[in-house]
Amino acid sequence: MKISGMLSDLLRSLFKRPATEQYPFIKRKPPERLRGELHYDPSNCSGCMLCMKDCPANALELIVIDRKAKRFVMRYHADRCTFCAQCVSSCRFKCLNMSNEEYELAALTKAPFTVHYGNESDIQAILEAVAPANTEPAAKA
Ligand code: SF4
Ligand code: SF4
Repeated sequence: MKISGMLSDLLRSLFKRPATEQYPFIKRKPPERLRGELHYDPSNCSGCMLCMKDCPANALELIVIDRKAKRFVMRYHADRCTFCAQCVSSCRFKCLNMSNEEYELAALTKAPFTVHYGNESDIQAILEAVAPANTEPAAKA
């Protein structure tokens, strides 16, 4: 490219808006249908385990504490999840949805990628029973 061509490109770009954005300081509103972290609402869950069976990535575990009392804990492995939303479609009771706000899932350790949903005391009991010392899996009620 000739110097004159480069100079005219340079001058033109001086008066243009930058094509890039200052992420993460400036964030765009995420699209409505963005598939971010999976959320689970146990209130309507029947414990059918269809979501678990249909998950192609083996990213879900439903732990049944008391089926009659509808006490379930969902263990979600976000690091295995392919964000396909198959589980969301499979659930007839609309217990699952993919957040379009929680999509920044990078972390420096593995712990935040194992998320527990359910009753706080049930989650605590499960974590105490299975978690080795020095790990703190994320828990969400
Ligand atoms: S979104 Fe897909 S991969 Fe992720 S938990 Fe659901 S079925 Fe599994
Ligand atoms: S498919 Fe829905 S109702 Fe069945 S276990 Fe999963 S979350 Fe619960």
